[in-house]
Amino acid sequence: MPCPECAVPYALYDHGPERLWRHLDTMQFETVLKARVPRINCQQHGVKTVEVPWAGKNSRFTLMFEAFAIRVLEASATVKAAALLLRLDWHSLHQIMERAVKRGLDRRAMETVRRIGIDEKSFGHGQSYVTLMSDLEVGRVLEVVPERTKEACQELWQRLGQQQCRSVEAVAIDMWEPFLSATEAAASQAQIVHDKFHVSKHLNEAVDQVRRGENRQLSSEGQDSLTGTKYLWLRNPENWNQNQKNSSPTYATLDSRLPKPGKSRNCSASSGAAWTGRKLWRSSSAGTAGRVAVGSLRSKGLPGCSRLTSTIY
Ligand SMILES: [Zn+2]
Repeated sequence: MPCPECAVPYALYDHGPERLWRHLDTMQFETVLKARVPRINCQQHGVKTVEVPWAGKNSRFTLMFEAFAIRVLEASATVKAAALLLRLDWHSLHQIMERAVKRGLDRRAMETVRRIGIDEKSFGHGQSYVTLMSDLEVGRVLEVVPERTKEACQELWQRLGQQQCRSVEAVAIDMWEPFLSATEAAASQAQIVHDKFHVSKHLNEAVDQVRRGENRQLSSEGQDSLTGTKYLWLRNPENWNQNQKNSSPTYATLDSRLPKPGKSRNCSASSGAAWTGRKLWRSSSAGTAGRVAVGSLRSKGLPGCSRLTSTIY
């Protein structure tokens, strides 16, 4: 029998005191396994109880019972409800949960993760954030840490472990410098991918920022041509609803509401650039078109696009 510490095999030394393990119920009666487990006398580690195949180390429950308890927990609204169904005290159930998490993590340490997504999520009233790391291939959350900071992102990578960091081939991530630098430091071999959603989110913000600025300017001059056009700018003209189509049937109409670049100040020219950028980005899912679009925005010095342009290039 192998020593539980060093796996060197030894002959039987004696049997430990009697132990009990709760097993799955038999015909709704609580069922308990009872055994005196063999011990060996290891030269290096002394007298040790050998591992039993039906239970984890130091557990008072069989592995089959623990697996069942986890299923009950998953189906229950609260830990208390599960404990009641299983006729367990809260502490024992908590220990079963901890052992299950450890088994899961040990298993996961053997796997390789190739495609990772890192994203932020807000909860409560948008005041609190967490940062999540997911395995995109199987659609599973790997880790969650509080806050959305560079440190949070670094912690995610640390928890993944060095070996798994090296196995990552691609990371889908928001275009945000703290996330990017933490990711580049932890998995330098991985390709960084910005998905279309993230890019268009920043582009939308930039377009809206420009529209608001210009609207303020025009309003102060008594013009209201941009008032109420927020969603027209943010939407693909092909997706305008009937009302929007009636009020602004074509892009040309919307465009004509803008003061002409030559006549007015720079800001209207930049709004045109934002629009062009959006059209370009939409017209192709290829990164090249997006880069051209962003390049054109940057060359115009669009104020709202700094976050976008500084991270794409
Ligand atoms: Zn040993």
